[in-house]
Amino acid sequence: MAKILIVEDEADLAKLVRNWLEREHHLVEVAESGIDALTHLQVNRFDVVILDLMLPELSGMEVCRRYRQALGKTPILMLTAKDTVEDKEAGLDAGADDYLTKPFHLKELSARVRALVRRGSNQPNVTLQFRDIVIDVNEFSVTKAGVEVHLLPKEFRLLEFLVRHPNHVFSAEELLSSVWESDTPALLDTVRGHIKRLRKKLDTPGEVSIIATVYGIGYKIEID
Ligand code: CA
Repeated sequence: MAKILIVEDEADLAKLVRNWLEREHHLVEVAESGIDALTHLQVNRFDVVILDLMLPELSGMEVCRRYRQALGKTPILMLTAKDTVEDKEAGLDAGADDYLTKPFHLKELSARVRALVRRGSNQPNVTLQFRDIVIDVNEFSVTKAGVEVHLLPKEFRLLEFLVRHPNHVFSAEELLSSVWESDTPALLDTVRGHIKRLRKKLDTPGEVSIIATVYGIGYKIEID
């Protein structure tokens, strides 16, 4: 499960790819132009950017170059209708991590996205564990003491995010921008509500909560 930015001006294709990736439990946002993409990248953290080469005004190549110049680290998968060695090399020189030629199979896109998420992640393991909780990122499942716990997609994503950044305190605002799509009307109360439900589902009665509250600052998961 990853947070993905699609940069594509062809609305039908953007919608097709978005729907496909959402069915695979990813969080997806769409930018329709290069400028729009750079704005998204300034404001939000993404795991992968799917960047079309042919965009109005600012080309995908230029977006890539500017983003890397600004020290943006998110892996970039570049899409293009052109299939020449020169274009591929130019894309990789501009800072793209991988390259896919249109038309492509959606399953091929998924495989490339998965590979880039693994590459961009500090913890390549698809299984995350702390205390008696095991998170299987590929299977989209969570167990506590060996018993499966049902989490809603955003609860899962929030838990995964906190566990992937152990001992780091995040404000509700930071969690909102990291876990939720920026075009949804989620509020800080939504974040607090999700934290509360995660605690209810995963805390052990009589023990300290799995998610620590740092008063006046935010939340963290402590892992030794
Ligand atoms: Ca295009």
